[in-house]
Amino acid sequence: MPPGNNKKILIIDDDDAVRTSIAACLRARDFTALQAADGLAGLAALRQDRPDLILLDLRLPDIDGLDVLATVTKESPDTPVVIISGAGTMKDSIRALQLGAWDYLVKPILETAVLEHAIGKALERAELLRERRRYREQLEEEVKNRTAELEQRSRELERAYQILETEVNDRKRAERAVHRERAVLQTIIDGVIDPAQVVSLDHQVIMMNQAARDHLPIELKKTDTLLCHQMPGQFLEPCAEHTPCPMDKIKETGKAVTMIRKYRDKNNAEHAYEITASPLWNEDGSMRGFLEIFRNLTDSDSVEAKLRDHESRLYHLSHHDPLTNLPNRLLFQDRLQMMMIKAQRHKHQVAILFLDLDRFKKINETLGHEVGDRMLVEIGQRLQNTLRKSDTVARMSGDEFAIILDDIRDARYVGVVARKIKQALAKHIQVGDYELFISTSIGISIYPTDGTEVEGLMRCADTAIFRAKEMGRNTYQFYTTDMNTRAFEFLLMESGLRRALEQNELVIFYQPQFNMTDHRLIGMEALLRWQHPEKGMIAPGDFIPLAEETGLIEPIGEWVLRTACAQNKSWQNQGYPPISLAVNLSARQFRQQNILELVADTLAETGLEPKYLELELTESIVMNNVEKNVRTLEELSRLGVQLAIDDFGTGYSSLSYLKLFPIDNLKIDRSFVRNINTNPNDAMIAASIIALAHNMNLKVLAEGVEDEKQLQLLLKQGCDNVQGFLFGRPVPAEEFVRFFKESP
Ligand code: C2E
Ligand code: MG
Ligand code: MG
Repeated sequence: MPPGNNKKILIIDDDDAVRTSIAACLRARDFTALQAADGLAGLAALRQDRPDLILLDLRLPDIDGLDVLATVTKESPDTPVVIISGAGTMKDSIRALQLGAWDYLVKPILETAVLEHAIGKALERAELLRERRRYREQLEEEVKNRTAELEQRSRELERAYQILETEVNDRKRAERAVHRERAVLQTIIDGVIDPAQVVSLDHQVIMMNQAARDHLPIELKKTDTLLCHQMPGQFLEPCAEHTPCPMDKIKETGKAVTMIRKYRDKNNAEHAYEITASPLWNEDGSMRGFLEIFRNLTDSDSVEAKLRDHESRLYHLSHHDPLTNLPNRLLFQDRLQMMMIKAQRHKHQVAILFLDLDRFKKINETLGHEVGDRMLVEIGQRLQNTLRKSDTVARMSGDEFAIILDDIRDARYVGVVARKIKQALAKHIQVGDYELFISTSIGISIYPTDGTEVEGLMRCADTAIFRAKEMGRNTYQFYTTDMNTRAFEFLLMESGLRRALEQNELVIFYQPQFNMTDHRLIGMEALLRWQHPEKGMIAPGDFIPLAEETGLIEPIGEWVLRTACAQNKSWQNQGYPPISLAVNLSARQFRQQNILELVADTLAETGLEPKYLELELTESIVMNNVEKNVRTLEELSRLGVQLAIDDFGTGYSSLSYLKLFPIDNLKIDRSFVRNINTNPNDAMIAASIIALAHNMNLKVLAEGVEDEKQLQLLLKQGCDNVQGFLFGRPVPAEEFVRFFKESP
């Protein structure tokens, strides 16, 4: 026995001889021996002297030794109690062990070494227990603090975000309102044939139409301020007594006024103008300026010419995009129609390219419409510069452009143009201080291969653009007929999947899991397959997302759980050693209201013990709404089932975060294992996942182990379990039994 260091040992025994002999023995070992001759004296000594260990006789003169024991375990659970019992009290000793005694010795104690050993062990264990409790308390405290801290931080962020969002929205709304108002005004005055201008209360011209600009007697620089009287004649004086100011009149009456004034033009010719001036009001009823329209009364000779001019301008307006001045959708369709007719006659092809700027919305939202608009203008220009004069570049809407390539003899040429467009847009676009980068997704369709009508051809280009975006943007795609087939197939699949469940087309394959060191079979994962009557075996990756989206995953998931649990139980009934069964849960299943009930009922129904079921969840599932998930997982864990994180390393959770969850196993994702021997980064990630997981008392399984080298490295890193083609592929239940038979 190690020296007692004055540790206090209380001996409760009514036999004086026993007491004194034990006490002497203890003192010789540097312990302090305390003695009590009955139960009550013993309990008094417990409370007063706080002994490090108690030696307790069960037969006491006053109260039952078992009651003394119960009181000690209740009041001082860390104090180890070793029973010293007479030969006839074996039953009581066992009862005492059940009640919390740590050990027992049988009287008479002939060998002091036996006593020494029992005391030494008990003290050592008590120390360990205390340490473990301290450690756990620290850990709990840490987790509590960290959770509170994270929650606080997340609340702060949420608040800050909300405030910011409101501010940004207000500003954007205000900006948009101004923008809209200006646009409306501009459209109105642009539609007027005669010169027109908007003038502020301090006589400055703040807006004018094209006709007014054409009439301007001077070359206007951007920075020049133009005053109302300078229009539309040559440097006339401001209004005076004999030429009253229209604005004064309006201010007096609040109504529109008409007056005739004479001006000189650039060539010094005199013109009579009829000016109509109307007030413009603010929302609050105050005046903000006025609108002036000038009608030349002198050259009535050119009325007809003007009318023609007006018509052509209207045509231009309705066929062009006002921002970029490119043809709009209407004109695009007209021209496409024309070119298709021409192509039919001359037996050549026409290609259309639809362009959708990638992430243009972001630029518009973050930097404002003005920046966005200037970018669109620049992009329009670059597109025009890239193409031949005879090609059409149109702006279809917001951030969509479209191109017609006429007279195509070789479709390969279209690819060349698409690449040229990508190149032209690759160089940054400078708007003010901003250096902006943009890329575009391009969808291409060709007349007459893909369609012989405008509508159809445009739809094909649209489908192709969709595919280009799917492929990760900044790329171009030619339309192919299977693009439509794919969309159609997706629709078919949904109704097919509904039937699959009823008609028993779903099957479960099982993939074995092994202990890494001794290659013992320890478990299996249930992996779903769809045995399609025409298409053959369909992998879960091809239909589970659809099942998630449509909600079909709930009945399907239930079926998988029930079938696999029943299968596992059936193998146990056939006498195979019990192993654990892993079942994947998708996000929607896990969120489902009755998941707890479902698992409990399934276990009850099939008779499978909970410890042989493991539920696999991915990181993103558990990290989404942590608070609620901790509760669900704790409840599941309380049922006795095992919990595993699947595909670990692909999500965004940190291991320390996982401490919050009652997880038992971690499955390292296949993607790290694949290159573990060639990519030092992957090897390091795997190694740290393993080390940290062990630190948290989790077991680690490596997924997707395909060769011996991967196995050896993982083994070296201390990985516990393995699942992969090297050991066994997923197989139907009938074939799986061979893994039981082969297991050592
Ligand atoms: P998972 O849970 O990560 O399953 C492991 C996948 O890795 C399986 O693909 C398995 O066949 C494959 N695998 C195992 N070892 C190797 C290997 O050595 N090399 C390679 N290349 N692959 C290996 P599977 O069966 O196609 O399943 C794909 C995913 O579909 C599963 O990934 C799981 O997320 C999901 N899934 C499968 N069955 C179900 C199910 O019943 N319910 C739900 N919700 N999801 C399921
Ligand atoms: Mg899995
Ligand atoms: Mg996995």
